Amino acid sequence: MGHVIGIDLGTTNSCVAIVENGQPTVIPNAGGYKTTPSMFAVSQDGKRLVGHLAKRQAITNCTSTAYGVKRLIGRRFDSEEVTKTAEFVPYEIIRGSNDDARLQLAEKIFTCPEIAAIILREMKRVAQEYVGEPVEEAVVTVPAYFNDTQRQCTKDAGKIAGLEILRIINEPTAAALSYGFGRSDEETIAIYDLGGGTFDISILSMGDGVVEVLSTNGNTFLGGEDFDRRIVDHLNAWFVDNDGIDLRNDAMAMQRLKDAAEKAKCDLSARDVTEINLPFIATDERGPRHLNVEITRDTLESLCHDLVSQSLKTCEACMRDAKVGPDQIDRVILVGGQTRMPFLQTAVAEFFGKRPHKGVNPDEVVAIGAALQAEALTADEKDLLLLDVTPLSLGIATFGGRFATLIERNTTVPVRRSHVFTTTRDDQRDVKVRVLQGESEVAAENDLLGEFVLSGIKPASKGEPEIEVSFDIDANGIVNVSARDKATGLEQSITVNAASTLSDEEIQRIIEENPPDAIALKV
Ligand code: AMP
Repeated sequence: MGHVIGIDLGTTNSCVAIVENGQPTVIPNAGGYKTTPSMFAVSQDGKRLVGHLAKRQAITNCTSTAYGVKRLIGRRFDSEEVTKTAEFVPYEIIRGSNDDARLQLAEKIFTCPEIAAIILREMKRVAQEYVGEPVEEAVVTVPAYFNDTQRQCTKDAGKIAGLEILRIINEPTAAALSYGFGRSDEETIAIYDLGGGTFDISILSMGDGVVEVLSTNGNTFLGGEDFDRRIVDHLNAWFVDNDGIDLRNDAMAMQRLKDAAEKAKCDLSARDVTEINLPFIATDERGPRHLNVEITRDTLESLCHDLVSQSLKTCEACMRDAKVGPDQIDRVILVGGQTRMPFLQTAVAEFFGKRPHKGVNPDEVVAIGAALQAEALTADEKDLLLLDVTPLSLGIATFGGRFATLIERNTTVPVRRSHVFTTTRDDQRDVKVRVLQGESEVAAENDLLGEFVLSGIKPASKGEPEIEVSFDIDANGIVNVSARDKATGLEQSITVNAASTLSDEEIQRIIEENPPDAIALKV
């Protein structure tokens, strides 16, 4: 059997791992780095660049360099998150034919799953060079709080990349698998995962080969990028005050500012003050203007403390759902690069009443956990039982725009629930069902996964027909729907026409447009 790899497809960086002789190993790329920037660019001479190569040219080619695309995947073009991202990124985001968000890089339009596929294919290539043979199967991680559409898009990305995704697992769950590797103690642990673009908190019970997620919560639009943005806004305001120039109209200057802001943020995890020095950042009638300013750790903390508080509120909700208090949590594990910020570590320690565990590498644990899960799925002996939950409630829209929950959030997956539908008019032939995910009682405030029409109902008085619709959430967290007419026993296959995802024809077209060698470039 071929190798099965574990891929952490991150907002900022991606990482690939494999289990060899029972030991998980992170695979370095050709440049020797264990993580690869989740960046893709079309260069000025039309070449496609991925990873470090894309990152290196991001400043001079900012409008054709894609980054942070995981924040856009599976979202509607009109969503608040896409609007917010568009204000900040130099590349152009446009409306796709499924109302999804697409990127225009140079002359070409790319869907988000296509860009995710390019990153996945790069990670596959890194793994292939290491093992010396083709790799066709993977376990890929996603934020626990990803909804069905975002998971579906990630699966599509795998298809485009020529990778069969054996299982999608949640990032904090993967981190827990990695933490639990080689341990047998019974423990309740909290995984606090703040990466570049997303935040997850999961509470798990571990021990004796069983990893059970008790609850999960999160925010798919909170991460290191938001910290960077606060610094960028602060620096730009400072420059306006001191030089009278607003840099927001200059994409290249903004990209330089963003790079410098992220670097300053990381520096401030190790020291109290750092300098930002950006010569020739602008020009006016006075000549070239330079930005030279110091920023202190205190300033960074005052700019970002509400982002940390926001994450802790989410932790509170997660503990409520798990019905555990901080004193019942034996260990808190920090995952994701942004958790290196000392202020965040102190805030998390105060919140849980204990110092977070420092024994895991926040950049690598997720990929290692994915590799361990890949091994568990393919091994003959199943000595790991993973019980995960669905992060969001699943339900349908009912009369008056209300939301009727069919599967509560934090229900263990896989799960199947049925609901009997009937007609509201005599001789009604069709019933339309809208499937939603979310926590609001108001249907319109939840994410619409898709809608379908039950048709061919036999003419009957209203309320008489009984059509049983089953909603399944599989181990990947992906929703499937099927229907059965109770009178005839006939099964009706239903395709939930989700917006923001790609049709099979579109996936095929993208595969044909992206032959493997077009995007397999060396780092
Ligand atoms: P990840 O998605 O886990 O790779 O995390 C990436 C995020 O972690 C980015 O926003 C980075 O800027 C941030 N990050 C990496 N190193 C540090 C550090 N030393 N201090 C603060 N943030 C960091």
